[in-house]
Amino acid sequence: SADAADRLIEGLNPQQKAAVIHSGGPLLVIAGAGSGKTRVLTHRIAHLVETGRARPGEILAITFTNKAAKEMKERLQSLLGPVAHRMWISTFHSACVRILRAEHEALDMRSTFTIYDSADSLRLMNQVCREEGIDSRVATPKSLLRRISDLKNELVDPDDFARSLNDEADVTVAAAYRGYQSRLKSANALDFDDIIMTTVNLLQAHPAITEHYQRRFRHILVDEYQDTNHAQYVLIKILTGTGPDAGELTVVGDADQSIYAFRGATIRNIESFEEDYPAATSILLEQNYRSTQNILTAANAVISNNPNRRAKRLWTDQGEGDKVIGYVADSEHDEARFLIEELEAMHKSGKRKWSDIAVFYRANAQSRALEEMLIRAGIPYKLIGGTRFYERKEIKDALAYLQVIANPDDTVAMRRIFNTPRRGLGAKAEDAVAAHAQMHGMSFGGAIADVGNPESPRGAVPGLTPRAEKTIVDFRTVLEEARAASEEGAAPADTLDELMAKTGYMEELRNSDDPQDEARVDNLAELHSVAAEFRTTNPEATLGDFLEHVALVSDSDQLPDEDAQNDGEVTLMTVHTAKGLEFPTVFVTGLEDGTFPHMRSLADPFELSEERRLAYVALTRARETLYITRAAVRSQWGAPQELPPSRFLDEIPDELVDWRREHSAGDVLRRSTSSSYSGGSRYSDPDFGSSSYAPAPIGKVKPGRLDGGPKRKKPSTRPQDSLTPEDLAKFEARK
Ligand code: ATP
Ligand code: MG
Repeated sequence: SADAADRLIEGLNPQQKAAVIHSGGPLLVIAGAGSGKTRVLTHRIAHLVETGRARPGEILAITFTNKAAKEMKERLQSLLGPVAHRMWISTFHSACVRILRAEHEALDMRSTFTIYDSADSLRLMNQVCREEGIDSRVATPKSLLRRISDLKNELVDPDDFARSLNDEADVTVAAAYRGYQSRLKSANALDFDDIIMTTVNLLQAHPAITEHYQRRFRHILVDEYQDTNHAQYVLIKILTGTGPDAGELTVVGDADQSIYAFRGATIRNIESFEEDYPAATSILLEQNYRSTQNILTAANAVISNNPNRRAKRLWTDQGEGDKVIGYVADSEHDEARFLIEELEAMHKSGKRKWSDIAVFYRANAQSRALEEMLIRAGIPYKLIGGTRFYERKEIKDALAYLQVIANPDDTVAMRRIFNTPRRGLGAKAEDAVAAHAQMHGMSFGGAIADVGNPESPRGAVPGLTPRAEKTIVDFRTVLEEARAASEEGAAPADTLDELMAKTGYMEELRNSDDPQDEARVDNLAELHSVAAEFRTTNPEATLGDFLEHVALVSDSDQLPDEDAQNDGEVTLMTVHTAKGLEFPTVFVTGLEDGTFPHMRSLADPFELSEERRLAYVALTRARETLYITRAAVRSQWGAPQELPPSRFLDEIPDELVDWRREHSAGDVLRRSTSSSYSGGSRYSDPDFGSSSYAPAPIGKVKPGRLDGGPKRKKPSTRPQDSLTPEDLAKFEARK
């Protein structure tokens, strides 16, 4: 109704209002963080419906994450009621899957097509490489997949690509690409990147289908437009259509918050919107409603160091607010300890509920030190975009290995690792061993000792194929060797490394390409650190003592009591997943050169700019209280690494920061002696690659492949995975 429509624009500023009621040509809303872009988009949708300018079914709204889609749906339901269900509010991928399922006939696919996840894709690519005779020394299946993903994001299909080969390497890519696509087709499957490209191809090849969707979606609205890639850009362009019948397109975004270049996102899309759509209206929002002035000034000071950006004026009428609080910790533990103290103080005083607080870090593995302290302090927390450290699959697997070493009769642990990593032992083999165990009243591990051993008083385990038998014997040998070494006093961290290497676990991890968790190797590195550290503080401790220690910190019984629950939970997340969100209190941790900005970005201006945008996103999530912390020394692979302050810290004007502690003990030590604090500096390691965790890799893994780092690379722009000695010298010079 007209009344309801009026209420939707109440309280909006003139620019926001203009964006909500705009009618006609394409609309671009471009504005800094917290200026109400998402709010404008949501209110615009509701306003279109309330004024009768659109029916709910005519609306297609695209958000960046499923979580954002869910929030927008809920918001629209509260504004409009159940009619909101008839709108398409989803990510690019879910919208495209919906279209593809509906149009499968035109695609010559069954509607039941499968979507391959990255593990499936990798398996398929391995097969392609074998069958096409592609030498993995020339191109690894993973690097080929990455390259193909980039091509798909650019809408380059195998035929297009075959026409533009530059060198021998391209010839290999072309063969792999063709083979891969044809096998996907025969499997009636699409991979993740295919979803968008196939939809674009479908629409381009079938004008009637295109017209159908163009008529249906009269209003297309895209949030976070700065993070669209080329394929998504073209998709939107087609769905909107051109000429007098074109739909109404609204896009909102902020070039300074583009943080997905590694998935092909390009800010070109937002920067050239006005050229792409000459009839476009642009609206600039300049008032920030989220943060205090001090927080805004700090964030603006950082982002203004990026070259080639359009300067923005962002202001707030919320007053200066408190200063940003800074803390330099001696170590990641000291950082976590400081954090807990602050959390407890603000909670106790009633200033904040747990759910008002978020803690950000650059990489998933950093959450471990924080999580342990939170658990010990009994502070409830939730981890977004990741599993709690000790509940992560790779951590549970690794701990299961250690448990089996400490206790061969631990049946749960033994069965967990029996075919992990996959060694070709199926349910039949497992059943045969289990039956033997049951028949003789022994543990599963005990039965494994009888495999292939006719001398045993019970005889060998029956019902196993010769191959399964040999596999189990090999597996057992690895365990026995590790157990013998452990009993001789080997350090738990070394036992872990040996097991992960000899069982091929590391190898399998390196070959897996799961985008959900790009950091499994980092997490194992963290577990290595936990073990190494435990040994340092308890030199006499056995493997059993270590496992007991871990069991205590990871025990879920120690999780929050009921009172705490009423107050919600502290949120822990990476900066990437914090996009679009806001919290009264935010901690941005790990502000060290080499952590944030990430090691890989230090020598590359393009990637460094992206890291700076990421820092801008992090700082602008805070509404009232912003903490910035760093650790002078951070353990990686069990060795303390000295890390210089993040350059982003230097970029924040000092008068904005209330330093609770400005120097670490290490800084003092460093000033009084000229040598390095931590002794074994990794930067002098000649084998050091692009990995930030190079010094003591688990197993014999080549440095540079350890942190999943190359995954984030665009192979087209960065063929080199490792830093050159010159890069390292530059880095060294900064310290
Ligand atoms: P980001 O760039 O981080 O995605 P954004 O530009 O999408 O931010 P919103 O999340 O829409 O910003 O808004 C930031 C905060 O300001 C929200 O809490 C929102 O409700 C509030 N807000 C926006 N506009 C107004 C307004 N006119 N009056 C009051 N509050 C507002
Ligand atoms: Mg937003």
